[in-house]
Amino acid sequence: MDTQIANLIASELERQRNGFELIASENFTSKQVLDAMGSCLTNKYAEGYPGKRYYGGCEVVDVIEQLAIDRVCALFGAEYANVQPHSGAQANAAVFLGLLNPGDAILGFELAHGGHLSHGSPVNFSGKVYDAHFYGVEEDSGIIDMDKVAEIAQKVRPKLIICGASAYSRDWDYIRFRQIADEVGAILLGDISHPAGLIAADLLNDPLPHCHIVTSTTHKTLRGPRGGIILMGKDFINPWGRTTKKGDPIMMSTILNSAVFPGMQGGPLEHVIAAKAVAFYEAAQDEYKKYASQVIKNAKSMATALVQKGYNIISGGTDNHLMLIDLRSKYPDVSGKEAENALVKAHITVNKNMVPFDSRTPLTTSGIRVGTAALTSRGLVEDDFEMIVDWIDYVIQNRNDETSIQVMQERVQQFMKNFPLY
Ligand SMILES: *Cc1c(COP(=O)(O)O)cnc(C)c1O
Repeated sequence: MDTQIANLIASELERQRNGFELIASENFTSKQVLDAMGSCLTNKYAEGYPGKRYYGGCEVVDVIEQLAIDRVCALFGAEYANVQPHSGAQANAAVFLGLLNPGDAILGFELAHGGHLSHGSPVNFSGKVYDAHFYGVEEDSGIIDMDKVAEIAQKVRPKLIICGASAYSRDWDYIRFRQIADEVGAILLGDISHPAGLIAADLLNDPLPHCHIVTSTTHKTLRGPRGGIILMGKDFINPWGRTTKKGDPIMMSTILNSAVFPGMQGGPLEHVIAAKAVAFYEAAQDEYKKYASQVIKNAKSMATALVQKGYNIISGGTDNHLMLIDLRSKYPDVSGKEAENALVKAHITVNKNMVPFDSRTPLTTSGIRVGTAALTSRGLVEDDFEMIVDWIDYVIQNRNDETSIQVMQERVQQFMKNFPLY
């Protein structure tokens, strides 16, 4: 019996129970989601799609995968879904593979301003294989200027425009992005990995009617298992005149399905797909809608408290579950790395993050990113987040005093005992 890993899992559970989890991309799934992931479905090979598999014995997983597809389509008002991508990055990679040729121009949100690696970063395959260009935020406002996006798109003439980010606290103007994409003949991809759950709960602008294709993770605000999905509001004929051998036009759904399997991946993770189906079911309940709206209330409460304390939040506030704190206004000498280290010692988990026009390197950074999705799942409300801001500020102030940090760590642990996990 492997007691080593069992003990480590127990330690991780303790860590999760005891701390303030403020990493914006994390959440706590339900017990039912965990159970589905830890089920016998992991034993099953099911290359292909429901009803068209390369393996026998798929009659049960066919029903599971179809249920996941139907539920996610209903949740987002989509006509098409692929629930097989192993992660958000894989979902994006499959879309790129299906739509682009090596060397094609793509236009995404600048990584240093809050974009994602998989949108054309030079260290990622998307930046190595494709000709990546970027738009960003304005230095004074911290907000994307859509006229500038249009200007860059006219110059670059990308085949694919990507909207969506990992650290942008404002909502997206999908309508304008689609106009720009249409003007330059580009496909518009909306990557809603972060705010997916808030979109499912109708609390943010809906990308489905405007983006040709939408990708997402399932484990951030959506609170499902670690994984990815691809959606389309409406399936459409591929715009490049690709046809079958018989000369019939090929639908985009066919191109995307082939890009995921066999293009990008082998066998799907049916245990994770079952857990996705559970999460989609949960996200359709009224209780989840209440949760999602509390996530936003908590983020606004946190943003207000931070600004009152003299912290600069990029763009001045938040529309969603996260915010990017530029430490330079309040503590010019404290890097994101130093703040992260002190906070983590106090069991307040955040991640250092570049801020737009950062004067430090990606390994030190001038900012930290925080989000409210995970602690809202534990049951915390607005007042609690005001208190958390006090505690964060205390730790950063006393970052070099081990005793103060230790005292704070015990307070955090004591406080979280009121909000049991599993
Ligand atoms: C998190 C994220 C991803 C990648 O998700 P992984 O599951 O970690 O691969 C992709 N795009 C955006 C915008 C993200 O925030």
